[in-house]
Amino acid sequence: MAARNAPARPQDGPSDEPRYFARRGGFDYAGQPVDRGLVLWLVGALNDEKLVRLGYVAELPPKAETYRCAVCGAEFIGIGERTAHGDARHRVRDLTPDEEDAREERRERIENDLAPLYLDKTKAAQAAA
Ligand SMILES: [Zn+2]
Repeated sequence: MAARNAPARPQDGPSDEPRYFARRGGFDYAGQPVDRGLVLWLVGALNDEKLVRLGYVAELPPKAETYRCAVCGAEFIGIGERTAHGDARHRVRDLTPDEEDAREERRERIENDLAPLYLDKTKAAQAAA
């Protein structure tokens, strides 16, 4: 991908470039925590190719309907994803470390079901094939 000025947030890219959405959450991109279903632009980072190849993100269909978080303005591919984001990021009470761990495990389990990574596409797997 051609280098260009990165927007301040991956959500605030130029409108003429293809957008992507996070198939999974639980990672940071361009200094921002990413929640499952978040719509974003790739900012030209070194690992962009890998994020696509392994299935962390996928291209958003151009006319896809999206849903905005009323609190922070982040855009999501589905109402369920937006709700999960709201529950995780904008809750009134902070979680205890145990609750945080449980939430993280639940997220991992759900995402492994819904959007498994393409582990057959790691460099090591491809080299072995
Ligand atoms: Zn939000």
